[in-house]
Amino acid sequence: MYIITRKHFETIVKHCQEAYPSEAGGFLGGRDNLILGIYPVFNLAFLHFSEKEEFALADGEIIKVHSYFEKHNMKVMGFYHSHPSASFPIPSEKDIMTHKLKHLKGMMIVSLYDLKNTIMAIYNIEGNTPVEQDIKIIEDNEVNKYL
Ligand SMILES: [Zn+2]
Repeated sequence: MYIITRKHFETIVKHCQEAYPSEAGGFLGGRDNLILGIYPVFNLAFLHFSEKEEFALADGEIIKVHSYFEKHNMKVMGFYHSHPSASFPIPSEKDIMTHKLKHLKGMMIVSLYDLKNTIMAIYNIEGNTPVEQDIKIIEDNEVNKYL
């Protein structure tokens, strides 16, 4: 199970909604199963590809992300991204490949088929299989209870 504060969860959803109809994404950082930080990244696919459901990272971005989270006493826990036209947040084969290449575990997907009522799911990628995880949204002032 993952735990995320309402503030971080709302920031992720807002980032995905604002990037619509392009895909948005960013890294999730924290301790154990507690998400304590997010690192939105610039989507290069926006510049290079015509497809909207495409995400590309700048070279060196991953190294920057690791050192950013380390500086804040966190680890990289995973990556979130949006599926702008999907009804349900299901990882694509490409998502799974990319995730494995980057040695990431948690994959959060926000589907934006209905822009106001977004649906989010989080998976752990185990081998080639996405295994859906529970996620608990806590109030910002509850975070100390989970540290
Ligand atoms: Zn995807």
